[in-house]
Amino acid sequence: MRKVFDLRSYLPRFRGRDFVIKKLVSHSPAHSESVFSAGILLFGLGFGIIGALTNYFLSIPFYGYFSLYFGQILVLLCLVARGLNAGIIASVISAIALAVKLDDPFLFIILVSETFAVHMMLRNGKTLLLADVIYWLFIGVPLTLLLLMITSATSSELLIISGLTLSINGIFGASLAALIYSFMPIKNVYKKYRGKPPKLATVIFSLCMLTVTLPTIIISLIFTWQNIDQKEQEIANTLTRQGEQIMYVVDAFVDSHLATVNTFATTFPNSGFSLPVQTVLDATAFYEYVITDKNNMILFASPKLELVTLSQFSYQPSKNLLIDKIPELTFQNNKYLYYQSITQHEWTITVLTSPNIVTQVISKNFYILAACLFITFVVFAIIANQLSKRITLPLVNLANHFNDSSASEDMVSEAEISDEMKKVTDKLINSREIMLNFQQHLSLQVQDKTKQLTTLNNQLYNLAQKDGLTNLLNRSGFDDLANTTFRNCVRNHIPLSMVLIDIDDFKQINDTYGHPFGDTCIISISKTFNRFCKRTTDLLGRYGGEEFIILLSGGNIEEHHELTKRIHRAVQKTKVSSEDIVVRMTISIGVSSMGSNYGMSFEGLVKSADEQLYKSKRTGKNKISIYSQ
Ligand code: GH3
Ligand code: MG
Ligand code: MG
Repeated sequence: MRKVFDLRSYLPRFRGRDFVIKKLVSHSPAHSESVFSAGILLFGLGFGIIGALTNYFLSIPFYGYFSLYFGQILVLLCLVARGLNAGIIASVISAIALAVKLDDPFLFIILVSETFAVHMMLRNGKTLLLADVIYWLFIGVPLTLLLLMITSATSSELLIISGLTLSINGIFGASLAALIYSFMPIKNVYKKYRGKPPKLATVIFSLCMLTVTLPTIIISLIFTWQNIDQKEQEIANTLTRQGEQIMYVVDAFVDSHLATVNTFATTFPNSGFSLPVQTVLDATAFYEYVITDKNNMILFASPKLELVTLSQFSYQPSKNLLIDKIPELTFQNNKYLYYQSITQHEWTITVLTSPNIVTQVISKNFYILAACLFITFVVFAIIANQLSKRITLPLVNLANHFNDSSASEDMVSEAEISDEMKKVTDKLINSREIMLNFQQHLSLQVQDKTKQLTTLNNQLYNLAQKDGLTNLLNRSGFDDLANTTFRNCVRNHIPLSMVLIDIDDFKQINDTYGHPFGDTCIISISKTFNRFCKRTTDLLGRYGGEEFIILLSGGNIEEHHELTKRIHRAVQKTKVSSEDIVVRMTISIGVSSMGSNYGMSFEGLVKSADEQLYKSKRTGKNKISIYSQ
């Protein structure tokens, strides 16, 4: 048989059907499914477009070229409301906008994989905030760093900062989405994410964390941004001041010595001639400077730069991702932040400083920010965890109490966490007492009724299976038990005999001495039969008015016949007396035995015994007729 390749079998947890966009066929039998799919498509498109617009136009500049983007909030909301298909559509559209804006295709991979990962974790019952924090910690940040490392030769510092910025942005977005999500009616949440309701402690914990996370991130971001901005501004101002100071000194010097300077500088390029500005600038350890003429020839440069005077000052403008207020240039493979001013003689003064001054502040700030956030989260996670457990403990206690245990004093004191909880606990403990008493009462009643029912059942059984006059089995009772014995004997080839007995001329006894005396006779004769049928295998019953039946089994049929004769004799000897009446009775017996051939049915055996009884009656009564096979 040809094996069909099915991707789903290789990805059991991925559930390929989640990612199928159903056909929009109006005549499809599952019409509602099609509408649902169209709904998903429109939902995803709508959220995606709003997310894309948010990412493109509503970003908040943070520092350097880094900004905070909020499009992912809409993607996450779309995901929790309509599931993976809609989430992916929204995510793709919104991520494309960001990737285009920042000219970084890898952002697309990171954002779309965030949607996938959060979907998986929501399916596993994680909360939205937790799912997103896990994604950024274990996938988002490492992936970002890896992609940055592969694609650009940026410094490790920049790598860490951009990774942190992205993850803080991600967690910030997720916190906002989680906040909105917590106000969303549960019926609006995608059904596969609902699962079983979370524990109350988890809900309280999440809310506590959310109320801490969001303000902490916002406050930290504002402080970080302000700090970095201040430092950048400070350096920009210092560079400008330095530039202007040099310009002033140079202008003043050149004005008074223009001719000399020009001649001297061009005649003796390597004379070691130095401008007096050096004395002004030497004091500044962090700044270097280059003075060039209008042809970009170096007139003077800080000795540290080791530039040749009157050579061309060639540099490339470059871009620093962390600093956007101060321009950056690169020459001799070094990067410098710079400020340029032009003197009235069209000399260009370039004041240079290392970008490290700013990036060090930024990285320091970022490490502090990350540490603060981490410590806040850990401390508040512990507090929130303890708090949520304390709040829910009385409820857990109550649930346990209703299961099996009895009320403990701790339970009551633990419920004193709030007035409502205490009232509920007291009321429920009382109700449980009432319930238990009622249950006990009920169970006693049930026991009593069960006893009565058992007695009634036995009475009913006796009524149905026994004869009221003689207390022997009645016809149906006998047939039930005899049938079972018969089948067992036939199956195991155990000899058996059916004995039918009828009192001779009983009508006459009735007619002569009255019906009640007749009854006495029947009772008396039944007692005689009972005396001879003591073995557990002997079955005796009253088969009709004055007819009796005995099923003998086990041993051999000769023994059965012998017993029958003894019964016959015993009846003959029995006297029944009442007041001055004394009566002796005789009986006619028909016996049918099976000792070697077991081919007869139960009914056949009874019929055969009846035939033998009839024979006894016909041939003079008070005798036994036997048929054996
Ligand atoms: P036979 O020798 O041919 O058996 O004569 P018989 O008079 O015994 O005739 P049969 O068996 O036909 O009559 C049975 C009589 O038993 C008829 C009925 O009035 C009487 N009988 C049946 N059940 C009871 C009972 O429970 N109590 C009393 N006292 N008489 C009963
Ligand atoms: Mg009879
Ligand atoms: Mg009779």
